[in-house]
Amino acid sequence: MKRCISFLCAGFLMILSGCGAPSVGDVGAVRTLFAMDTMMQLTVYGEHQEEAVDAAQAEISRLEGLLSRTRSDSQITALNRHAGDGSPVAVDPDVYSVLSLAQEYAREVDGAFDITVAPIMDAWGFVSKNYRVPSQEELARLLPLVDGEQLRLEEGGSTVQLAKPGMAVDLGAIAKGYTAGRVEALLRSYGVEDALIVLGGNVTAMGRNYSGDPWRVAVRDPLDGEAYLGILPLQDVTASTSGGYERYFEQDGRRYYHIIDPTTGLTADSGLLSVTVISSDAARNDALSTALFVMGTERAEAFWRAHGDFEMVLVQADKTVLITQGLEEGWDFRGERNGYQYEILHR
Ligand code: FAD
Ligand code: MG
Repeated sequence: MKRCISFLCAGFLMILSGCGAPSVGDVGAVRTLFAMDTMMQLTVYGEHQEEAVDAAQAEISRLEGLLSRTRSDSQITALNRHAGDGSPVAVDPDVYSVLSLAQEYAREVDGAFDITVAPIMDAWGFVSKNYRVPSQEELARLLPLVDGEQLRLEEGGSTVQLAKPGMAVDLGAIAKGYTAGRVEALLRSYGVEDALIVLGGNVTAMGRNYSGDPWRVAVRDPLDGEAYLGILPLQDVTASTSGGYERYFEQDGRRYYHIIDPTTGLTADSGLLSVTVISSDAARNDALSTALFVMGTERAEAFWRAHGDFEMVLVQADKTVLITQGLEEGWDFRGERNGYQYEILHR
């Protein structure tokens, strides 16, 4: 079978376009951009595809301007700067929404996801890229600052504040998913029904590709950037992958990566290489893929059983790929060449 890889994103999911000659003849409006420190690509079909893709790019840029913590003029930077000084910070409705969703998801996953992990991220040098391994004493001093419940959201929604000095939020694990959801809504307002929104490891498949088939999205082999483990046909769903293999550093033979267990301040070491979550909600997907990575197989599986609203692919360090039963149909496994095997998790 002929395969066409139309775009290999910098994230964790490869996009395989439909194959053969396009039956519709329209390749859509395609826009590749770099934002939020990630490669992004938008492929949009529809009568107003050019205006829609322009508007989507502008929306990504607007949200980055609000949500980035590396930009001195963002609202998140203002929130962090005023931590503990008692002054509430007025925020845009989107900023308020991301913060309140983050708090809601954090409660669901029992400490595995917490956007107030920022001081720990800084101690590891993940933002400055001056990587170092913090001492136990330093982590013990910083851990009391990691407490999402100390993010105060004013009832009704226009001001927020962090209760303690030194606290800070980092939306790296949720903002791209949230943005994907906003972009999807925006595209729909332009009458777009078919589009692929790739924001790093967050992929939203709207409708069908130019061949009229579901979009084909491949889950990458976390140990081999050239290979993939399997292909998922996706239509009107969104997928998000988190893994320890893209942003990391090595010291004394150990790999330290950017997903942190907020309860210990250490790199999450749960025996997983990557987690992909698929559902209809992009922001929650993004948060959950990070959280389930921290939780590890046993807790992730229990969480999946307790919630009927998402599917997942867990790639374990022992090279077992666990996929939940809702993904079984259409799952095209390709990992055997690199020594993987897969199992289906049944409810
Ligand atoms: P995910 O698994 O989705 O998220 C991991 C990221 O979330 C970590 O990098 C960390 O930021 C945070 N995190 C780690 N553990 C947890 C946890 N347990 N709970 C909650 N959060 C956690 N990077 C730069 O280097 N420079 C930039 O200027 C920059 N600007 C950005 C602006 C925006 C608006 C956003 C959304 C991201 C930006 N980033 C930037 C990237 C960001 O710092 C992360 O590296 C990136 O978002 C990781 O995403 P992921 O999908 O790979 O991983
Ligand atoms: Mg995430």
